[in-house]
Amino acid sequence: MSIQTPRHIAIYGKGGIGKSTTTSNIAAALAEAGHRVIQVGCDPKSDSTTILRGGAELPTVLDSLRDRARKPKLEDISAVGFWGVLCIEAGGPVPGVGCAGRGISAAVDLLEELRVFETFAPDYVLYDVLGDVVCGGFAVPIRDGIADRAFVVTSSDFMAIFAANNLFKAIDKYAPSGGARLGGIIANSLQLDHARGLIDDFAHRTGTEVVGYVPRSVDVAQAELYGQTVIEAAPYSDQAEIYRKLARRVTGDLETRLPKPLNGPDLKDWARDWGDRIFGAERAAAARSA
Ligand code: SF4
Repeated sequence: MSIQTPRHIAIYGKGGIGKSTTTSNIAAALAEAGHRVIQVGCDPKSDSTTILRGGAELPTVLDSLRDRARKPKLEDISAVGFWGVLCIEAGGPVPGVGCAGRGISAAVDLLEELRVFETFAPDYVLYDVLGDVVCGGFAVPIRDGIADRAFVVTSSDFMAIFAANNLFKAIDKYAPSGGARLGGIIANSLQLDHARGLIDDFAHRTGTEVVGYVPRSVDVAQAELYGQTVIEAAPYSDQAEIYRKLARRVTGDLETRLPKPLNGPDLKDWARDWGDRIFGAERAAAARSA
């Protein structure tokens, strides 16, 4: 299966790290700039597109397919959000049964069957993918020729870095046989002094690149409380400009690459070294102010 025209972009990230907020703001920025955009939520929580739709609920593809009374139509599984972004949620399995990854495959198969890519004619299709475990199910967008490039959203938290490193391993496995290559890292929720240096160093050690830095901002929290993207809620803010720049970067002509993930012991050593550096800097700062 190859559906790489228009441009299909997968955005991975550990749960709670801000990948849906980032993806939705990228979608909103692209739509605002005049592009036709589809966002497909690939997270069993099914709330990827919420802030594009004022917080409204959206039936998922898997839920619609479970109702076997009739074949779902596009209007059953989609809603038009901010600036015309077509929003779709793949959905998740019944708890304790089935595979979340199946929802992603089922969503893409249904969109192809309904000829959504031909009729809606998007310029970009964004897949917002849960990246806690890059198992066979959640690897579908980068494995099966669905996306041509993948990005990972990470903070400086070790578990988010660990998830990013796992995505790199999956890309290395599948890219040589037609899977997606890495576009880069999106550094999110930057607040602490060391955060940017730590993520830059991780990118350097894994032969990758940081394509955007997104600081923690009250604009994001406020927009989410309104059920909106920052692009909609605070269009003239610095944060909105940061998302617009990021949208141009992830969709632009950048060099995609095969990352060099760290093995388990090297990742632990790297993390311990950063732990020493951070506590050393804090001790020095405390000594100066004493
Ligand atoms: S492949 Fe992944 S999503 Fe599917 S059942 Fe296994 S762990 Fe769950």
